[in-house]
Amino acid sequence: MKILYPEYCQRFSCLAGACPDSCCEAWEICIDPDTVSFYRSVPGRLGERLRSALSVDEDGDAYFPLVKGKCPFLNPDRLCDVHAALGEAATSAVCRQYPYFIEEYEGFTERCPSLSCPAAAALIFSEPLNADVYPVPPETEDGLLDLLIAGRAAALQTAAECYFAESAARIRAMAEDLQEIADGFDPSDIVYDFDAVVSSSVYAETTTEDQAAFLALRHRYLRFLLSDAEILTEEWRVLLERTVDPPFHKMREADFSGKEPPPDAVKRALRYFLYRYFLKPVNDGDILLWTAFILQSVAACTEISRRTGVGFETVARRYSKEIEHDPENIDRLLDFLAEQL
Ligand code: SF4
Repeated sequence: MKILYPEYCQRFSCLAGACPDSCCEAWEICIDPDTVSFYRSVPGRLGERLRSALSVDEDGDAYFPLVKGKCPFLNPDRLCDVHAALGEAATSAVCRQYPYFIEEYEGFTERCPSLSCPAAAALIFSEPLNADVYPVPPETEDGLLDLLIAGRAAALQTAAECYFAESAARIRAMAEDLQEIADGFDPSDIVYDFDAVVSSSVYAETTTEDQAAFLALRHRYLRFLLSDAEILTEEWRVLLERTVDPPFHKMREADFSGKEPPPDAVKRALRYFLYRYFLKPVNDGDILLWTAFILQSVAACTEISRRTGVGFETVARRYSKEIEHDPENIDRLLDFLAEQL
């Protein structure tokens, strides 16, 4: 099985005790069954600590409840006591896997570091936009997957070359075509001109109504993030409140004019979200829905940054921590978008 990962993964190095936003904070750590069995056998004081820290949630899954917002094994040096005493192999599967998302497809596996991790975010936000950072998987025997792989490559190139408003229009137009193909034909029989997505002016054409609809959806998406998605940290709640708060929202657009996020940072965030999610429709066939999720994710981060003055990279990292690592939050957002489309 071929394992693919973005080029910058080779330079990833955990910040450990110097991390400003440790993965051992805010999240409750799930403990997989093998690790629970192992913890039941650990002798001595650490074994007692492990067993007394273990709890079971309403679904019967084991976890370590947070203590003052942190994993109970995060020590004052901001290092893990379990890792220090017993080695990395003794930590839970989720700790060993983080910061990587692992996605398995027919014939290949993708391993992508999470934007929520400060060390990974630094790499994601410095990737060269003119190089082959995100690998293209080999051809598969699944026509839809091959269509999505080619579509993702075209979308990644578009995101690198155009500003967000234009790349969003081009990628949306391509997604509409791909959805039609996926719904009506055998995708392996179709010859689609993916080069045209970035080069042809036809893909950039949008009406004023389309643009207004996209911005209105962005506003409803932001409201939904505040009112219906699960919120992990107070910091995120405050950012959302400041973004959608009615008096603040009524401020003139001119008041935000100096606060546009750096375009290259927005391009890199879009490329990250495209890489992470554009192949997901291979499971449910809903290309338009996943495209809306990708574009609204970037649009929401852009708007939060503009309206709060908090740096775009910080906002995107927080979004990833709050949304990407909570499958229920992603499901809620997809359900919401499905109603809106
Ligand atoms: S968030 Fe990233 S850099 Fe920080 S401790 Fe975790 S893996 Fe290391």
